[in-house]
Amino acid sequence: MQQTQFLVVGLGIAGTLISYELWKAGKDFIVIDDSSESSKASLVAGAVINPVNIHKWEPVALAEAIIPTALETYRSLEVLLNIALMDEMSILSFQSHEAHPLFLQKKNEGNRWLAEANAHDILSAEKNFKQFDALGIIKPVWKIQALKLIEQWKQFLQEKQLFLKDRFQVKDCSVSAGTVVYKELSAEKIIFCEGAAASQNSFFRSLPFNKNRGEALLLSIPGLSPQYIYHHSTRLVPAADHLFWCGSNYQWQFDDLLPDRQWRINTETLLHNWLKLPFTVEDHIVAERPTTAGQEFVVGVHPAMPSVAILNGLGTKGFSAGPLLAKQLCNELLSTQKAKPVLPVKPLGKWLK
Ligand SMILES: Cc1cc2nc3c(=O)[nH]c(=O)nc-3n(C[C@H](O)[C@H](O)[C@H](O)COP(=O)(O)OP(=O)(O)OC[C@H]3O[C@@H](n4cnc5c(N)ncnc54)[C@H](O)[C@@H]3O)c2cc1C
Repeated sequence: MQQTQFLVVGLGIAGTLISYELWKAGKDFIVIDDSSESSKASLVAGAVINPVNIHKWEPVALAEAIIPTALETYRSLEVLLNIALMDEMSILSFQSHEAHPLFLQKKNEGNRWLAEANAHDILSAEKNFKQFDALGIIKPVWKIQALKLIEQWKQFLQEKQLFLKDRFQVKDCSVSAGTVVYKELSAEKIIFCEGAAASQNSFFRSLPFNKNRGEALLLSIPGLSPQYIYHHSTRLVPAADHLFWCGSNYQWQFDDLLPDRQWRINTETLLHNWLKLPFTVEDHIVAERPTTAGQEFVVGVHPAMPSVAILNGLGTKGFSAGPLLAKQLCNELLSTQKAKPVLPVKPLGKWLK
């Protein structure tokens, strides 16, 4: 039987961040992931850290706590892995005449992330986009290179023999006071980071997971500058290999994760009406967001099983709130004294008996 301190199930952004925190704390752990690309929300995401709530033009809740932790975490991962993972950029926001005054009002009231478009921004928009009413700038925002991050972190773990490719099944796991046994592995604690698959995990049967799928197109748009994220009724985000990520939608009723043909047609029509430049669709990707009713984060230690913890419910904020939530969970697991979390999370006991 191989002994370790922690088992982490799932290597999306949640599993990456919590295992990174454990690694920094010098803990012994093993990450188990089925390496199923199709089910990973983290690889379908735009992976943008945007401090501003787009239609209200106000900072997102606790932006001042979430954003510095996220930046510090990704920067330190860049140093450790010796790769670039984060691009700082601006959102070029295309606004209607009706919406623009609120943007200006919030900027003038002191939202420091908002700015008026300068001559260069306007020129860039006029060159590549059809007629528009008004522009605004949100800056800085950050794009995380999610695929590179997760792949490189997995490689780092593999080199240290801290990764196991396996489809974890609760039936192969037994939990007793202070010990978790899974197949040939024995650990003190287990942390579940399975994304949307957690709705099937019997340890967490009564958590209020909601089904929520989202999709994106990967577009080739020769001539469009990757300097900006472009936001109108859809969003174009510079992605790897000179492509642009375009998305996304929110579907609450669905039976599968197959690409929605009608959404693609509608999005292409929208793009033809917006862009002057020709584009080709290179891929159409879909995933289920790990979301709960009330958009609550699901983070903490199981109230009835102190050896079992979860980092989930990241919803639309995996890349922005994930680093602070992972840090808080790591502190909760490692410290004997319970500290008040910066980012408030509902105690799991509200849902789990
Ligand atoms: C279209 C779209 C756009 C988005 N845009 C953004 C954005 O711009 N910014 C942002 O912050 N967030 C965004 N999100 C949300 C973000 O993707 C999620 O919050 C985040 O990826 C959730 O990460 P996770 O690690 O919890 O889940 P996942 O990424 O789904 O990872 C779960 C992992 O667990 C593995 N797994 C599951 N079950 C098992 C098992 N039994 N055994 C072994 N392994 C298992 C899976 O294979 C997977 O690797 C977006 C999501 C979507 C769908």
